[in-house]
Amino acid sequence: MGEKVDRAGFLRRLFFVDSGTQAARALRGEGSYPTGRIPFTFLRPPGAPLEPQFLSRCTRCDLCREACPEKILVPAQEPLMGRGTPVIDPDLGPCTLCLKCVEACPDGALLLDEDRRMGKAVWHAETCLSSRIVACVKCVEACPVGPSAIQILPGKGVEIYPDGCTGCGFCVRACPTEPRSLHLQGRPPMPLRGHPPVPTRRHG
Ligand code: SF4
Ligand code: SF4
Repeated sequence: MGEKVDRAGFLRRLFFVDSGTQAARALRGEGSYPTGRIPFTFLRPPGAPLEPQFLSRCTRCDLCREACPEKILVPAQEPLMGRGTPVIDPDLGPCTLCLKCVEACPDGALLLDEDRRMGKAVWHAETCLSSRIVACVKCVEACPVGPSAIQILPGKGVEIYPDGCTGCGFCVRACPTEPRSLHLQGRPPMPLRGHPPVPTRRHG
């Protein structure tokens, strides 16, 4: 598909979560979301719970990868990320939050009532055109969430709001600088000793 996404549909899929979930709490400003500098991170598909829970449920069946119409899910190669588990490769395209991967998961490793944010965009002032008084607003225009995720503030540059940003990657794809002035920050890998054994399917 192209790089356009239906904004109303994207927001409906993002916000339609039970009011008690982490996502809903965070969106009301009651939750926390990692904002610190993390050396190596990666992106799970939407609806993935915290790593220990995810790794204890994902049977590496590949059904989510097959269901993704954007073909942006790849099997993790790194043992720290759980070899064979699904991760998003943002170089292959942005996530439209269609949730087909979540619906395809038979093992409860991706859940509709979990946080649907995959990470957040991180801005780099050094290369951004808006830092040089050039009127570039391509990232803001591309964002399907809107001002609750990203804004350009006069005299300050691009501001990302982690509670609103989903880490979908549309802004990164739209950035015209080389290198791009935004990158996606996902979750950090978990030490191998904390990994549960690869589970087998619990139901047919
Ligand atoms: S939500 Fe849709 S586009 Fe995003 S990873 Fe899942 S299947 Fe792919
Ligand atoms: S700021 Fe970028 S990564 Fe975040 S929701 Fe908007 S387009 Fe997606």
